[in-house]
Amino acid sequence: MRLMTGRATDQGRTRAKNEDASLVDDEHTLFAVADGMGGHRGGEVASHTAIEALRAAFAGGASIDVSISRANDAVLARAAGNDELTGMGTTMTAVTVAGRDQLLIGHVGDSRAYLLRNGEMVRITDDHSLVEELVREGRLTPEQAEAHPQRAIVTRALGVDADVEVDTYEISVEPGDRVLICSDGLTTMVRERDIERFARSERDPQRAADVLVAAANDAGGEDNITVIVVDVLEVAAPPEEGAAAFPPAEPPTTIAPAAPPPPFVPAAPRARRSRLRTVRGVLFVVLPLVVILGVAGGVLGWYARSSYFVGASRNEVVIYKGVPGGVLGWDPTVDQRTGIKVDALQPLDQDRVRTNSTRGSLSTAQAFVGRLQDSVTSTSTTTTTVKKPKTTTTRPRRRTTTTTSKRP
Ligand code: MN
Repeated sequence: MRLMTGRATDQGRTRAKNEDASLVDDEHTLFAVADGMGGHRGGEVASHTAIEALRAAFAGGASIDVSISRANDAVLARAAGNDELTGMGTTMTAVTVAGRDQLLIGHVGDSRAYLLRNGEMVRITDDHSLVEELVREGRLTPEQAEAHPQRAIVTRALGVDADVEVDTYEISVEPGDRVLICSDGLTTMVRERDIERFARSERDPQRAADVLVAAANDAGGEDNITVIVVDVLEVAAPPEEGAAAFPPAEPPTTIAPAAPPPPFVPAAPRARRSRLRTVRGVLFVVLPLVVILGVAGGVLGWYARSSYFVGASRNEVVIYKGVPGGVLGWDPTVDQRTGIKVDALQPLDQDRVRTNSTRGSLSTAQAFVGRLQDSVTSTSTTTTTVKKPKTTTTRPRRRTTTTTSKRP
């Protein structure tokens, strides 16, 4: 596989130093981002210790998940007996080549890997963070999570415990694909759709990395920012046609030379392999379907939630948000009460309200309510408590004809 990479890092605009560390090791085809945390020098020591241990273990032939476990050991060992470093930890998201057209990702913490293909970006990794766990459990919406005060709390990191669970993802890639590895200094400052836009705005991977870091700084730069961009230029040639029935025992030799099959993968390589296949299956078979359904549902939901209509709630005129009758589970909700009694309206207006015939934007609905209000106050002596902008000038859309109406 032929790859081209870019990397950028910056301490941001509010932090005193950069506690992120990263690795671009072309010789071993290993790319990683680590986001350190801890007092004093803890954060930067943790991230740099982890990156160096990862590199050494991987170069020595360990698999990516074992290499990340070694990094965990190294951070713990470095902190042991040093009061200033006690409690330090780091995230780790590492990418390597695992086959003819496959990348393997090992991941702990809330740094992220994304795949950009044909201009569309999907996230590969799950965050090990408090808010994302709450989102997965359905207790927070993604929008609430974005602004959550505790969004920086990670639930899994290196340097915390002697055992660390490493998530691995195997993804198939094709020429033209772009993989992003980044610390949360990017993702907490720049929305995903903007990351996608910036990531595809530059053809050159180094420029893309620079643009993304600059975007996080432009948005406030409240944390250290690190971005690695890995472009897939070519994948290895597929096996010969005639040989297809007899799969080669060895992987093609065009893979990164120093990444032989891991010599000491513990106990259950079979189980791991099947889990990797499942992840890959989910990413490339189910995911497009989910994306299509999600987009369709999102458009419907947006439609359902961004329209308004004027209707009746018992005997009161109210503005509903939504679509009469609801769409796919999005039921209309009362957005504004008006205090106007339906049976105080002229018969024609009563009909319009009861049949929800006025639909459109919020301002359309408010304009209609304004007209109803005028007609009620012009025919009634009772004072109502409706709040409505006072206008002394003649509005062009105001009714100019005076109608006499009967109260029922
Ligand atoms: Mn961070």
